[in-house]
Amino acid sequence: MARKRDLSIFRGEYPESFRILSQAIQAARGKHFLGKNILGGPFSFDIELRRGAGAYICGEETALFNSIEGFRGEPRNKPPFPTQSGLFRRPTIVNNVETLVNIPEIILKGGAAYARVGTPQSTDTACFAFPDMWRGRERTRFAFGVTLRQLIEMAGGVGGTGKLRAVLLGGAAGSFVSPQELDTPLTFEGVRAIGASLGSGVVMLFDDSVDLKDILARIARFFRHESCGQCVPCRVGTIRQEEILQRLANRAPNGSVQTEIALLKEAAQAMRDASICGLGQTAPAAILSAIERWSLYS
Ligand code: SF4
Repeated sequence: MARKRDLSIFRGEYPESFRILSQAIQAARGKHFLGKNILGGPFSFDIELRRGAGAYICGEETALFNSIEGFRGEPRNKPPFPTQSGLFRRPTIVNNVETLVNIPEIILKGGAAYARVGTPQSTDTACFAFPDMWRGRERTRFAFGVTLRQLIEMAGGVGGTGKLRAVLLGGAAGSFVSPQELDTPLTFEGVRAIGASLGSGVVMLFDDSVDLKDILARIARFFRHESCGQCVPCRVGTIRQEEILQRLANRAPNGSVQTEIALLKEAAQAMRDASICGLGQTAPAAILSAIERWSLYS
């Protein structure tokens, strides 16, 4: 019985991941765990690695399909959803690495034992990444429910001046969290209660030597640069967002600071409501979360 191939794709800047996975696949083939008639039985299954060209947006599942098919890496309108019409217009399942690493544990321990880890509403573990901090390990898994404070202690503290100014939880599309919110349990429901999200699991710490206005400008620049430009709310919204932050940072608002922040929120609403994909929908999230927590421009 032949099964569909699992097509995995990587951004161009992850050559090490590509090398490691290529070796692992080769080793699995050598043991007849992959390929035709696995271990001499009727089951056939294979894995093919595909490398992306490096666009951030190609991590969006439908842009990924376009990229694999040789088209521009632009997200598709949904519906149809990938399970109805995905890669080469065939029903497709997309799993990220974090999902796949859970499978051996579920098989080995059983579903019930697996579900007991974490909290009732956020079962299991989550991968959290402290860029440059986790003693050489980029990502580490913890049971849902660990607090930010515990994570930071386990990672060896804040670093820099040692005085925490802010945490960016979930990466550029996530939310800023203040030092007063460090005891929030990292669960879906816990972070939702403080208006944040776990996002990609990236945890970035900023000590009090950092000017958060610079960080917001970088986030805005990132989204303006990575927008594929296909839909107006994101294409124009990310540009307007960057411009407003520049004017605020230069103390040259159009009207007052309040007018500019109201405009920023209006643009954010349009991006959230009308962008085709998650990039545009989440591009204002971290910026607004910082503005809600701190008076950065007054
Ligand atoms: Fe492209 Fe942005 Fe629209 Fe997504 S939201 S399709 S990245 S323009």
